[in-house]
Amino acid sequence: MPPAASARRGALPADPAAAIVALADACVQCGLCLPHCPTYRLDRSETESPRGRIALARGLSDGTLVADARLDAHLDHCLACRRCEAACPAGVQYGALLERTRAVQRERRGARLRQRAIEWLAARPRLFDRLLGGYRALYPLLPHRLPKPPTRQPLPAPTAAASDGEPAALFIGCIARRYDNDAHAALLRLCAAAGVRIEIPQDQTCCGTLHAHAGDTATAARLAQRNRAAFAAEVPVLTTATGCHEAIAHALDGHAPTFDASACLFARVDRLRFKPARMRVALHLPCTQRAVVRSDRAVRGLLARIPELDLVELPDTGCCGAAGTHMLNEPERAARLRQSVLAAFIASGASVLLSANVGCRLHLALGDAKIDIRHPLTFLARHLIETRTP
Ligand code: SF4
Ligand code: SF4
Repeated sequence: MPPAASARRGALPADPAAAIVALADACVQCGLCLPHCPTYRLDRSETESPRGRIALARGLSDGTLVADARLDAHLDHCLACRRCEAACPAGVQYGALLERTRAVQRERRGARLRQRAIEWLAARPRLFDRLLGGYRALYPLLPHRLPKPPTRQPLPAPTAAASDGEPAALFIGCIARRYDNDAHAALLRLCAAAGVRIEIPQDQTCCGTLHAHAGDTATAARLAQRNRAAFAAEVPVLTTATGCHEAIAHALDGHAPTFDASACLFARVDRLRFKPARMRVALHLPCTQRAVVRSDRAVRGLLARIPELDLVELPDTGCCGAAGTHMLNEPERAARLRQSVLAAFIASGASVLLSANVGCRLHLALGDAKIDIRHPLTFLARHLIETRTP
């Protein structure tokens, strides 16, 4: 029997288990998503595929399967990249199914201490910011390979220039608050040149993606509420980290429109002029940019405006393995996934790698400390010809 349209979009039962079953029943088990799934490509196992996980989630919800460590691990390995969702002809809402399934898992077994600590810190960006100072000091002494601390650099001040420009607000998040600091400063310069005036609301917080993907939907909802209060209604909100975009867009839905920063700039690209860059640069498209935000066309279009730039787009080798806290919780699997992206970068012959998601950049840099990896906005701002006063 074909699934009800209501099971495909909206109108889900309030009971979590019944909602998971309804979402799973939209799957017609065609298998067209399998070649797009990075974990299926890694393991060649049905239980590491979207179709297999949908069947597991359904079985755990309707009681035909009993939870154990092995079944939990298959669900834990999912990267939440949603490439399967983008490829699915039946419109299965895989992301919604995974979030609900992980919420049920979390209620049953709790979360690891490390996961809870990361979530706790992410929900307190200012404290996280202060602790990064200590991390910076201790980093050379730490035994394990961990992401490099960000450089000590003040957070960018909102643009004073272009005060007659169109108003917009910038979402800076938690980890990206510092690690994307240079991208935020770059965006301010690009926006000033494009006639957009940026504000940075101080009371904003983490987008909650880390929490929602790990099943802590209550904290994700609280963070969404705080962001709704922090962002003034109707002023467009720009995001720079593709991994944060959708959560913010959902949180502000009906309150303020949300745009990927590259898409905002691309809509005003005729106001931007760039100086030549005689070099080869590789573009990495994060899963969230390909499958969720879909701002890849805007990034390509902006970079194409830099004269003489030799832009090479990396082949789609699958998720790089970062996937929120996956890089910390499953380091061996994450390293295997990263390897194919790094190999593609080396094969490209490029000297710089561009990627619009902060988690991907941190994870890729862990695989090769010498890699010159930047946000596309940073690269664009470096080649900007400023005709307005920043
Ligand atoms: S493509 Fe969609 S319908 Fe087909 S197996 Fe995958 S999730 Fe199910
Ligand atoms: S979200 Fe990504 S890793 Fe998870 S099942 Fe879908 S394609 Fe595979």
